[in-house]
Amino acid sequence: MSDDYDFRLRFSRRYSMGHRLISGAAPNCRVPHGHDEIVTVDIVQISQAGLDPETNMLAEFDRVKRRWFQWIDRDVDHSFHISNADRLLGFFQEHEPELTAKLLVTPGDPTTEIRAACFKAKIGAFLAEDEPNFRCDRLIIQETPANAVEIMATRLDGILPKGDHWWDRADTSINDL
Ligand SMILES: [Zn+2]
Repeated sequence: MSDDYDFRLRFSRRYSMGHRLISGAAPNCRVPHGHDEIVTVDIVQISQAGLDPETNMLAEFDRVKRRWFQWIDRDVDHSFHISNADRLLGFFQEHEPELTAKLLVTPGDPTTEIRAACFKAKIGAFLAEDEPNFRCDRLIIQETPANAVEIMATRLDGILPKGDHWWDRADTSINDL
């Protein structure tokens, strides 16, 4: 239970993004458009050892958030979120291949829910390498001032396809192209 932790660290970052949804469930979203979103992560200490008696900290904030913020700022900011089944992908690959690095590709429509799962897996991969005693307990994407999606899941393999995918890799990738 997440409430068992005495402390949680919480970090928020803002970015701009564009997307479109092709399933037809949200007709307005078939037209490419964008949002300014805020992603917030809660980080907890796996060992629950508590504060370092020397520093009164759980961890130095910068060590926990550095790679996550760098990824948001350099790779997610101004990216275009697109389904792996969207034919626009082929357009970019054929006509503007220099832009494919800025395509954030999701399994199926890039809804806020599936992106929250991908983001949670990604920060999990970063933490596993950089700060293995910490994990992301909760992640929220605030897609508009009124709408947000929160994900608590610890077993993301029930949500995301298995395999060598960008969300499981501790690198800067946002697609598998
Ligand atoms: Zn939208």
